[in-house]
Amino acid sequence: MERRFLVALFAIFVLFFGSLFAFFTSSSGAFQSLQWNLGTDSKKTGKTANPDGVRLNAPATTPPITTPPATTPPVTTPENQTNAPVPTAETTPPPTVTTTTTPPIPTTTTPPHTTAPGFALPGFGDSVSTYDNAWAFYLINEANPLPAGYNPNLRYVYKQYRADSRCADYAIQMLEDAKKAGINLMVISGYRTELLQQQNFDALMQEFIDKGHTKEQAYNLTKQEIALPGTSEHNAGLALDILSEDWYMHHTSLTNDFDKTAEFNWLVGNSWKYGFILRYPDDKTPVTGIIYEPWHFRFIGVKRAKEVYESGLCLEEFMIQT
Ligand SMILES: [Zn+2]
Repeated sequence: MERRFLVALFAIFVLFFGSLFAFFTSSSGAFQSLQWNLGTDSKKTGKTANPDGVRLNAPATTPPITTPPATTPPVTTPENQTNAPVPTAETTPPPTVTTTTTPPIPTTTTPPHTTAPGFALPGFGDSVSTYDNAWAFYLINEANPLPAGYNPNLRYVYKQYRADSRCADYAIQMLEDAKKAGINLMVISGYRTELLQQQNFDALMQEFIDKGHTKEQAYNLTKQEIALPGTSEHNAGLALDILSEDWYMHHTSLTNDFDKTAEFNWLVGNSWKYGFILRYPDDKTPVTGIIYEPWHFRFIGVKRAKEVYESGLCLEEFMIQT
């Protein structure tokens, strides 16, 4: 009996430990799963982990923190900015100083010469500059005749009367501006051919002869009123004989009393603005050799006309002076 008991005890003992052995050999997979589930990092890195699933003193598996290289631009200091201009006190523009000065006081000097707006001929209203019409500034008289056969280009300025084309616009403008000012002018003579000049000269000379003068006396008297052919400003197309319509209607011949009219006063006071001058003034006959002709106006250019007008000289005197 005792022996059975020992055998049974032995069998139980064997059976117990056998079962226990079988259990462990069949559950090894679960054991491993447990192990990897606790140490996922070690599986990825191939490192071994202890069985309890906790890694101890694991090496730092995190990648080293690589700090990016310093990419900040170098600090530019004024010393190494050799290319860029360094503002200095000298080159810095001074700040705009807004002063509170009073506006300039208008001067009360002589106002500039002006006339009706819209006049755009060269030199007009511009006493000395751009265009001085220098071509027109020359003497034509008995001592200074025109070249033989002088034949200027002509343009009509008033009805059938013509003038040198270069001064025609000035004459036309003068007549128009006068009209706007209530001054009705009329041209009674412009360009004359030398043939017409000769015919006029001969006719007047005959009148003096008919009055009892000798031929020599008649010749000298005539040339004071009508220039010899080739010595007349009319032959150059630079002279206009101008009257007023009213005065013309009440006279049968040219007389000095035209200078009593408003039209004459307007002409004397304004013609220079258009380049014309009163060519044979009352007190200049000894110089010009021509009688007083308040109707005869000569173009010499705007610049010179202004100068002659202001000088009070006749053209011969002015020429000597200049
Ligand atoms: Zn004339």
